Amino acid sequence: MLEFLEKTDPEIAQAVRNELKRIRNGVELIPSENFVSMAVLEAMGTIFTNKYSEGYPHKRYYGGNEFVDVVEELAINRAKKLFGAEHVNVQPYSGSPANMACFFALLERGDIFMGLDLSCGGHLTHGSPVNFSGKWYRCIPYAVDRETELIDMDEVRKIALKAKPKLILSGLTCYPRTLDFKAFQEICEEVGAYHMSDISHIAGLVAAGVHPSPVPFADVVTTTTHKTLRGPRGAMIMCKEEHATAIDKAVFPGIQGGPHDHITAAKAVAFHEDLQPEFKDYARQIVKNAKVLAEELMSLGIKLVSNGTDNHLMLIDLTKKNLTGKGKAVQNALEKAGIFVNKNTIPYEPATPFNPSGIRLGTPAITTRGFKESEMKVIAEGIATVINNYEDESKIKKVKEDILELCKEFPLYPELGE
Ligand SMILES: *Cc1c(COP(=O)(O)O)cnc(C)c1O
Repeated sequence: MLEFLEKTDPEIAQAVRNELKRIRNGVELIPSENFVSMAVLEAMGTIFTNKYSEGYPHKRYYGGNEFVDVVEELAINRAKKLFGAEHVNVQPYSGSPANMACFFALLERGDIFMGLDLSCGGHLTHGSPVNFSGKWYRCIPYAVDRETELIDMDEVRKIALKAKPKLILSGLTCYPRTLDFKAFQEICEEVGAYHMSDISHIAGLVAAGVHPSPVPFADVVTTTTHKTLRGPRGAMIMCKEEHATAIDKAVFPGIQGGPHDHITAAKAVAFHEDLQPEFKDYARQIVKNAKVLAEELMSLGIKLVSNGTDNHLMLIDLTKKNLTGKGKAVQNALEKAGIFVNKNTIPYEPATPFNPSGIRLGTPAITTRGFKESEMKVIAEGIATVINNYEDESKIKKVKEDILELCKEFPLYPELGE
């Protein structure tokens, strides 16, 4: 498989092989990750990586773009079809720059906007003080309710009426429940704010119709393409026709130069796959798996934030196990057992972001691998055992054996050989 790489750079070739072995021998529960198809992988490795094509189809600043135009138009048209969007820009390098482009298009520096608080499941680019979104704009965050751990739309409305934001951001990176985009839209209309939605995590569920879509309402909708959409690393922006020019200008020349055409090609391939009927089955299975995993974990005495999930992800609250601030230690113990998760803050985190009290997990990648409900039980038991014995090497080793057994039944990337 790595014929040329092996000759030129054996060190990198070896790292790739080691990574392949790592993911094959573990259960990938990081909810922002997935496994792309061989077709998507192949598209990323094409000669389109060589091309410069600043501008947009048929309006480029470089010659020789007739085939790049084919690729970008296919990506745009497929994305439009997938989400029913009026206008799509497929050039953003990743989710963070896509969000930045929207802020540039719709706001002036210093403008007030609202986003979900980072510790309650928002993204860094939703107004965190360490991020451009919190440094250049005035973010008034909304949070989840302390008791229910749900977003209370009456509370969002109250804050909006007082803060009079120019933009309200609906979106999540660690919120396990359905977002009421219609309610967000109504508040935006009431206070005269733009509605920006960031569906990076849930885009695949939205495309498949297993989560409501903000696209019919929101002014702009951003999403990464590498999470539940199962495409290459990258992002896109969907918007109403009235914002099309501003969005396109904000992406190029506003914050980016030449688009990554090989990635655009892979986005087009992923959208083609996402339009197939099997993708709907895949998205439904993600949610089914998440529900079963959540129920199994709770039945084993693990507390989940908001007591369950509606989407692909869940957040374990370790404080109920007297493991406040032990997210990192538990993440490391799970990794030793071949269960890959990430530590995360919980709402109203009593510890610190670097040593938080939560563990975030999700089912997109394992569902791609073919895991179904019965595998969720094995995984839940493994997770509970490790959490309850996170310093007990022999118990962890025992879980690792079960996980390896499970992984053998579901070969990952068999096409890539050894
Ligand atoms: C992942 C994510 C992003 C950022 O994407 P990157 O590609 O990592 O820059 C932005 N917003 C949300 C909600 C995300 O989940």
